[in-house]
Amino acid sequence: MPDANKNYVGGEWTTTETGETLDVVNPADPSEVVARYQQSGSEDATEAVEAAAEAADEWAATPGPERGTVLREAAKILDDKKDELTDQLVAEEGKARGEAAGEVQRAIDIFYYFAQKASDLGGTRKQASGPDTDLYTIQEPVGVAALITPWNYPIAIPAWKLAPALATGNAVVLKPASVAPGPAVALAEALDEAGLPDGVLNVVTGPGSSVANTFVEADEVDAVSFTGSSQVGEMVYDQATDHGKRAQMEMGGKNPTVVASSADPEEAADIVASGGFGTTGQSCTACSRAIVHEDVYDEFVDALVDEAESIEIGPGNEADMGPQVSESEVEGTLEYIDIAENEGATLATGGGVPDDLGDGFYVEPTVFTDVERDYRIAQEEVFGPVVAVIKVSDYEEALDVANDVDYGLSSSIVTDDHTEAKSFIDDSEAGVVKVNDKTTGLELHVPFGGFKRSSSETWREQGDAGIDFYTISKTVYDN
Ligand code: NAP
Repeated sequence: MPDANKNYVGGEWTTTETGETLDVVNPADPSEVVARYQQSGSEDATEAVEAAAEAADEWAATPGPERGTVLREAAKILDDKKDELTDQLVAEEGKARGEAAGEVQRAIDIFYYFAQKASDLGGTRKQASGPDTDLYTIQEPVGVAALITPWNYPIAIPAWKLAPALATGNAVVLKPASVAPGPAVALAEALDEAGLPDGVLNVVTGPGSSVANTFVEADEVDAVSFTGSSQVGEMVYDQATDHGKRAQMEMGGKNPTVVASSADPEEAADIVASGGFGTTGQSCTACSRAIVHEDVYDEFVDALVDEAESIEIGPGNEADMGPQVSESEVEGTLEYIDIAENEGATLATGGGVPDDLGDGFYVEPTVFTDVERDYRIAQEEVFGPVVAVIKVSDYEEALDVANDVDYGLSSSIVTDDHTEAKSFIDDSEAGVVKVNDKTTGLELHVPFGGFKRSSSETWREQGDAGIDFYTISKTVYDN
């Protein structure tokens, strides 16, 4: 059995006051325990918050370029451990190796990007009415930020919150998802080795209901950044704002790709398949609805079924598509497959658990056709490799169906018609809109966030939006 990984509190590696640990199993072979973590409780979370509060002022007063040097050093350390970190993602989360390596690289790039931003921080200087007044704004850190992250990008998401929070001079408490917390602990190791002062970052593993809750309610915490499901995120948002905190929520999606009459059905199927089945359908931006013009519907469905059936499923190190992360995620996906069949959708391919892959948490890439826009499979987030195909008779209907959900994270259109593409960019109710591209895949230097139940719309993440969330502006009139 592996030794339990420790929490990182006040610059020390600590064990929990509860005395409990949590096993993480290999999703491709659940009989294998791949790691063990502290199953911490509220007392551990409180110690972490206190350590952050104590370290916050000194880190805030550290010059930006010096903070950037620590982040850059951490990026180098992560770069040196790229293969090891990729192994960890495959082992804990089941991610296909190429996707895991890409995610690790993204985390490294994020640290380099925000290392530079730490030096570029500043405000603006303006002309004042009085000749002797020096008028300018400065950006100050918010204080202590609590970060709560999901399992589906277990290194990239903690990195895209942590790097801007630290670059801008905040102290941090971080609670990663219980299913795959290892990569977040690895970020703490890299930052510790890079010379981050004690207490500036604190990582506590354990249940959201105790550890994250304690963070959100603590008086010392000034800002909460959460990524996860809409159900939990909405609750955390209310709790954080009731306690007077700045709150940023990135939540679920039900992302559409519209396939217009002018689209090449095979190219569109390739786009939908990579958006829908990439990362085993476990991306917040995964394409889960293909909204297809009747002129190209039959050809598109045939091509999408071919794409789904050509995907090789298996352990992350061997196959194109890995398992889902846990048994309960598989159960959730299979439940939606049942619901879709009972609602009257036609199962075009997949729909089951492969019989030659042992007890791994696998679900076949699944396509439903004859889906009506109001079916639950067309409205609710599945978070597994399932695409629902909806037939429409014109572009206006496609746009209407695309927008007719509670979510608004990412959307795309496949079309040769520029007017249609422009209309979609203007009218799609989603925070990310793509033309002739899959709904997944993000650049790190532009803002990311959604509409409706996908985000708290006031704040975005990544790029300069990441800086905005973790800073507060002060206007100075210096006479
Ligand atoms: P989740 O169940 O909502 O959990 C997210 C985080 O919240 C975890 O760290 C979890 O801890 C914690 N948590 C659970 N209950 C809590 C509570 N009562 N109070 C405070 N924190 C609590 O989501 P998930 O299953 O990890 O991730 C999948 C979801 O994330 C999907 O809905 C996906 O769309 C969404 N997502 C959104 C984005 C985006 O940027 N919009 C990106 C990626 C994923 P435990 O793990 O200990 O339960």
